Amino acid sequence: MQITEQDIKKIVQQVMENVTTELKDNNSNSNQIKAMKMKASSHTRDMNKSKMTEKTQPGDYGVFADVKDAIDAADWAQKELMRKYNKEDRENMLSAIRKKVLMEKEILAEMAIKETNLGNFADKLAKHELTVKKTPGTEDLTTQALSGDDGLTIIEQAPYGLIGGITPVTNPTTTIIHNSISMIAAGNSVVFNVHPSSKNTSAYLIKMINQAIIAAGGPNNLVTMAAEPNQETLQSIMDSDKVKMLVGTGGKGLVNLLLSSGKKTIGAGAGNPPVIVDDTADLEKAAQGIIEGATFDNNILCIAEKEVFVLEEVADTLIYQMINKGAYTLNNEELDILMQEVLVKNPDTKFSYNINKEYIGQDISIYLKLIGVEDPNIKLLIFEADFSHPLVHIEQMMPILPVVRVKDLDTAINYAIEAEGGNRHTASMFSTNVDNLTRFSREVQTTIFVKNAATLAGVGYKGEGSTTMTIAGPTGEGVTSAKSFTRSRRCVLAEGGFNIT
Ligand code: NAD
Repeated sequence: MQITEQDIKKIVQQVMENVTTELKDNNSNSNQIKAMKMKASSHTRDMNKSKMTEKTQPGDYGVFADVKDAIDAADWAQKELMRKYNKEDRENMLSAIRKKVLMEKEILAEMAIKETNLGNFADKLAKHELTVKKTPGTEDLTTQALSGDDGLTIIEQAPYGLIGGITPVTNPTTTIIHNSISMIAAGNSVVFNVHPSSKNTSAYLIKMINQAIIAAGGPNNLVTMAAEPNQETLQSIMDSDKVKMLVGTGGKGLVNLLLSSGKKTIGAGAGNPPVIVDDTADLEKAAQGIIEGATFDNNILCIAEKEVFVLEEVADTLIYQMINKGAYTLNNEELDILMQEVLVKNPDTKFSYNINKEYIGQDISIYLKLIGVEDPNIKLLIFEADFSHPLVHIEQMMPILPVVRVKDLDTAINYAIEAEGGNRHTASMFSTNVDNLTRFSREVQTTIFVKNAATLAGVGYKGEGSTTMTIAGPTGEGVTSAKSFTRSRRCVLAEGGFNIT
């Protein structure tokens, strides 16, 4: 039987209703349980602590009304993982998660769009597939061995323990999938504080992950969340002694907040990726790559192309090629209309404007409607901008791309570095001159640098290497994977050791 988009929408509608009702029930059940707990006789308090946590968890496959219960349950699950399961068991759990996500990718994609009102279905499907297929598992962990006259020393990548994960509204499902696979692969558990505007989809996914783990013979609650995430629940996670590491994927404010916690923090912050096109570039390829990257999931990815600097000798040809491939050039009047909608004046900010959140990650037709244009072939809006234009400097996350003409490569590089804003995130360049490519990659200092392709290649989409949904520029772990969520432990056998040479 052929499942249509209409069928998927109906299923999602039903699932969303169920999740909302379940969350409500879960809350009231949990309140009852809490009340019963308070009335419990004093001998209950003397019970073995871990046993009590195991028995009284009011969670529903990882979703807890009380964040403290979510923390306790995930902490217990991590200890259970270490006590009873080996790496092969972990791999079996990860395979079950991967399989289940692939089976339900349509539902997850549709739920994420419905709840967050961001991005598009086809690209969200591709993102789920990418995350499932290219997030490394336990094979990412390596052991270093030092063997010599004084014996044998091994250095292993050990689990951190319970991790607090904070996820963005722009990638609600794939961040949870990537983080869960990577963190469990490394022997951790994770309590998520998801973006409040994605809590229903996240709850559905987290239940699915725990059910998959249980079906593979693993413990419940390796992945948990607070059903009603907010700043207080995040604070509880940050303050808990049980949480050994924080991993934040989001804007600068979030990363700085986590860094102030005093805990080990992996911070994956905002980007504003510049693209340089020089006078040696294959311009058709450049147009193709820029359009592919800047339109993917309606430009909500942190790695997506956000502004272009093109050498003036080739600017007209690049724009011509972009138009051929689905770009529409805004005239001044259309640009004014659009900017009045998508920008909100804010004199307190560095560039005097904020982005109007209503317009983040929308379908191209929404912007075209504002300027009275209807054409299903248009994929991206472009305009010629001065370097000072706010969209050159602010992370716009929508398929509207400023193109800045520059007189030479020096100017292009200086402008691109300034526009990147010190995020150390992502940049790209189209050029056939190795010296130019090398020079820009060295000077821009981004975590990801892509040559002659869409920046998506930097996270393994039509590019070599593993994928991540958590690119840790500010704290330096880069393209995160299981090994990023480990701590180094050394074991020494001295005085003759165990070496065979
Ligand atoms: P955001 O910073 O607004 O929110 C991210 C998360 O942090 C959410 O769960 C939010 O509830 C929480 N949060 C933010 N500020 C908080 C505060 N003061 N107190 C408590 N909780 C707080 O970001 P967003 O709008 O959800 O996502 C988009 C941003 O994330 C973009 O800047 C994008 O570049 C970035 N991002 C980065 C990566 C990466 O890998 N580096 C990946 C995806 C998104």
